[in-house]
Amino acid sequence: MAEAVISPTPVVTGMNEKSFNCIRVSSSALQHNYTVIKNLAGTDVPVMAMVKADAYGHGMVMAARAFARAGCGTFGVAELREAVILREAGIKGAIYVTLGFLPEDIELLFRYDLIPVIYTYETARLLADKATALGQEIGVHIKIDSGMSRLGWLPDELPGFVAGIATLPGIRIAGMMSHFPEADISGSASTARGYQIFSEVCREIKSRFGGICHIANSGAVLNFPASYCDIVRSGIALYGYHPAGRSVGDDKNAANLIPAMSFVTRIMQVKTLPAGSGVSYGHTYRAEGPITLAVLPVGYEDGFSRLFSNRGQVLIHGRRVPVLGRVCMNMCMVDVTGIEDVRAGDEVVVMGRQGSEVISAEDLAEGMTSISYEVLCLLGNNNQREYIE
Ligand SMILES: *Cc1c(COP(=O)(O)O)cnc(C)c1O
Repeated sequence: MAEAVISPTPVVTGMNEKSFNCIRVSSSALQHNYTVIKNLAGTDVPVMAMVKADAYGHGMVMAARAFARAGCGTFGVAELREAVILREAGIKGAIYVTLGFLPEDIELLFRYDLIPVIYTYETARLLADKATALGQEIGVHIKIDSGMSRLGWLPDELPGFVAGIATLPGIRIAGMMSHFPEADISGSASTARGYQIFSEVCREIKSRFGGICHIANSGAVLNFPASYCDIVRSGIALYGYHPAGRSVGDDKNAANLIPAMSFVTRIMQVKTLPAGSGVSYGHTYRAEGPITLAVLPVGYEDGFSRLFSNRGQVLIHGRRVPVLGRVCMNMCMVDVTGIEDVRAGDEVVVMGRQGSEVISAEDLAEGMTSISYEVLCLLGNNNQREYIE
């Protein structure tokens, strides 16, 4: 294994301040996945790497750097502050702020050369005022609601808004964007319908103002090539997962993606208990015979959900072992009865590969009735990360 970089930076000089728990992020997997998605998009269509939510738990700056090394020059975040952090870290290229910004921060959009996505007339007016005051012009992307019922103008509200914005000084319509609710499902009717609505709006606006259009998320990149438009915006696929999870079956493109994150920890203590022992809060597990149990420094505080009480599994010595009793705030217990030579300090894989066994974000998601996205955010954003080339 090559040298690893720890984040956050040590506070005490000369110390490592390592946590017991470690998120390992493979920078080469991130680069590989970018290349897979870029090859699907084709030479003429840039891939906007969605790095919001600290790059789905992978660390925003480090992930953006990995994508940039693979050739990426377009990034998407939710909030303005994330975009500023990216620029301050030296990320070049286009950075889209998709969720808006606070009026008092508006100047940062100009100072850091960021692209705002707008969905209210009030925002357009504020941008126009600021642009005029600075003697500059700003290009904006307009968010259209083509069926998600989230942010954006409904298509029939759009002409009125566009007419209004066209009269404002210092602001230019540089593009339009929308978002699919069901693109992860191949052949979904809402995707075809949403795309039709969006492309009609795009044709009209493009003919009047020029600009570019984008709607495709990972699901659409994998399932709906007709929707690529001028840029595709990919998140989950860049981190190595298909948006539909395991229900997608053996999708050829999904098979090429490599999960970039794993989560490892170590055993704190091993002990053998007599039959009848109750384990953890509430004694929801009681040993029928003598058991050997390992205590792990992983709990719901670390993103390992309490839903895994008596249900989760981890990998020890290449074998799947079950969680016993309730998951605590920063500990849980697992059953290592019958496994030879298990000792304190042994490596435990909560997510990832050990020997021939693998626990994926999708496996964990299933136990939480959730999706890989949430597992990656929970584990990645609540633990120390280490990057491996
Ligand atoms: C997060 C996000 C995406 C990426 O979605 P994935 O399903 O992860 O590919 C695309 N567009 C917008 C606006 C987003 O917020």
